Amino acid sequence: MSDDGALVLFSGGQDSTTCLAWALERFPRVETLGFDYNQRHRVELDGRAHLRETMAAMNPAWFRRLGRDHTISLDALGKISETSLTRSTEIAFEAGGLPNTFVPGRNIIFLTFAAALAYRRSLGHIVGGMCETDYSGYPDCRDDTIKALQVALNLGMDRRFVLHTPLMWIDKAETWKMAKDLGGQPLVDLIVEDTHTCYLGTRGERHAWGYGCGTCPACDLRAKGHAKFMAEAVAE
Ligand code: ZN
Repeated sequence: MSDDGALVLFSGGQDSTTCLAWALERFPRVETLGFDYNQRHRVELDGRAHLRETMAAMNPAWFRRLGRDHTISLDALGKISETSLTRSTEIAFEAGGLPNTFVPGRNIIFLTFAAALAYRRSLGHIVGGMCETDYSGYPDCRDDTIKALQVALNLGMDRRFVLHTPLMWIDKAETWKMAKDLGGQPLVDLIVEDTHTCYLGTRGERHAWGYGCGTCPACDLRAKGHAKFMAEAVAE
């Protein structure tokens, strides 16, 4: 049994699409996992198959390595984000910049389900787009959280999983640059046209950096990162 394959947490957003390319460059077998837990993410989830097919068509090695896609329904998370929010926590979230759909510890839950699936699929590596550099305030994106979780999962499942977070210490401009380095302009174009990171989940207007409301924290980060990336590309 070989465990040199990877499972990528793949929502269909910019970060997870970049992580999928990163994994396809490194691992002989790559499977993807999406979580279905509220309406906001339908736009992202619906685009996943298209992103996977397009990326496989970009590169023969990626085509060979890309394996199965999995979707896990986590209705309970939707229940927490939709019904458990009191007015006072809503105001606190708005002040702190966290979206109202925020579910505390969401990434811990995602990675735990991912590890359970990776165990069954004999995949030794789990890849996620968590980032501490310009994260939107999610404490479970922090490197210490991920490292602690790796230890907990390995103890709790008696396996040797390695949790990879290739975006942990880079900013959004560098995430765009990473996509370009991995997949060239076709991957950058695919990310602009077909990935969604907007908190509102609407396609909205087409900006230079892609689709989205243009004003939520996720759109703001994506737009600023893209502008910096383009400015640096011109300067080179
Ligand atoms: Zn937005």
